[in-house]
Amino acid sequence: MDFQELRDLMVTTQLIPRGIKDERLLRVMRKVPRHLFVDEYVQDKAYDDMALPIGDGQTISQPYMVAVMTELLELTGDEKVLEIGTGSGYQTAILAELSKEVFTIERFANLSDRAKEKLTALDYDNIRFMVGDGTKGWPEEAPFHRILVTAGAPDIPETLAAQLTEGGIIVIPVGDFLSQRLVKGRKHKEKLSEEYHTPCVFVPLVGEYGWKDTRR
Ligand code: SAH
Repeated sequence: MDFQELRDLMVTTQLIPRGIKDERLLRVMRKVPRHLFVDEYVQDKAYDDMALPIGDGQTISQPYMVAVMTELLELTGDEKVLEIGTGSGYQTAILAELSKEVFTIERFANLSDRAKEKLTALDYDNIRFMVGDGTKGWPEEAPFHRILVTAGAPDIPETLAAQLTEGGIIVIPVGDFLSQRLVKGRKHKEKLSEEYHTPCVFVPLVGEYGWKDTRR
């Protein structure tokens, strides 16, 4: 299978027609080998327009959703980024390509370990991994210029907003258990101004400042 051709097609049929414009992002979406982040039995679907299972009931987000969230972060290459929900590590790779350093938290150790193995094999050296409850953020490393949450939350955890720099941006799916909207918050003078973006469906953000349980 020609994965480069599939990646190019993904960009020209799924991302550009839906309005993704950031040239640096499009270049990186053409480059990062998404098929290496999914299980072998679904590798031929890695560049399809959908989310895919990655084990433990979790999913790798649809390519378009990865692109939308990343574009909303307005990365220039200088940022310190916090990611909650490492999952497969695919979104982590995209962030690592477009920013200075990425701190990524995952609640399942086996997912974090697998992602770390893959990202190390791909020579990413600007990523730090933590296993734990990402709703608490990473206080020792705060503040962050950008925070990306890739699981659905009941609202924006104040713990995370507190770990943003002045002018910093958080992107997070907010809503109920079954559907959410992407919210972009920008911090000014200790307050977040919020913009609502595309509807989406993410697995729940489970933790002290998220959902308490995996069921409603
Ligand atoms: N960005 C990932 C998406 C993974 S799905 C990818 O592209 O593969 C969301 C992930 O968030 C899951 O792996 C889930 O285990 C994780 N998660 C949920 N609640 C969490 C929490 N409180 N802290 C850290 N990770 C969490």
